[in-house]
Amino acid sequence: MLDADFFRRWLTVAAASVDREAEHLTALDSAIGDADHGTNMQRGLTAVTAALREEAPDTPGAVLMLAAKQLISKVGGASGPLYGTLLRRTGKALGDAAEVSEEQFAQALRTGVEAVMTLGGAAPGDKTMIDALVPALDALGDGFAAARTAAAQGAEATTPLQARKGRASYLGERSIGHQDPGATSSALLIAALAEANGE
Ligand code: ADP
Ligand code: MG
Repeated sequence: MLDADFFRRWLTVAAASVDREAEHLTALDSAIGDADHGTNMQRGLTAVTAALREEAPDTPGAVLMLAAKQLISKVGGASGPLYGTLLRRTGKALGDAAEVSEEQFAQALRTGVEAVMTLGGAAPGDKTMIDALVPALDALGDGFAAARTAAAQGAEATTPLQARKGRASYLGERSIGHQDPGATSSALLIAALAEANGE
């Protein structure tokens, strides 16, 4: 079972991983965007870990809703509201249970990813974070480690795609040949799930 501690650990591990990869994320965003994705994610997750330390929410749902609030208010750019929606809708779907099963979490995360697709209008293949998140969901039934592999492969598979959503879409065909920064940060978030679970 996954409790509030697990979800706090997830976001703390994710923040550390984004710190390590911030320059890489920004370099990817400088090729097909405006070179701020690493700093956006760093600012957001730093606020998340600070809020979690201060408020210590005691259910999985409350941890995710608090994190969402920070991302929505602290991250400028498209990714803040999108990741905020992901965590808010996932957290809401978990309700106020003290512990949730991996299966319940997988189902809640699906609700969250669907909300991101509704908000941003992106489908798989549009070269966005969705291209890492949907494969992760589809693999989650086989565990967090399988989801990590699927998300990383999904992020890599954005390289030959032409962007159809977000800032990169303004480049048209020139967006081809670069890995999507948001798909890359999504793969980091999914990898952090496996790490937080000791996998
Ligand atoms: P901005 O593009 O406003 O500078 P960021 O650089 O922080 O914001 O985030 C860019 C990432 O956000 C993209 O690489 C892409 O994965 C994701 N993204 C942008 N627009 C959308 C959308 N409509 N749906 C899903 N993801 C999107
Ligand atoms: Mg950007």
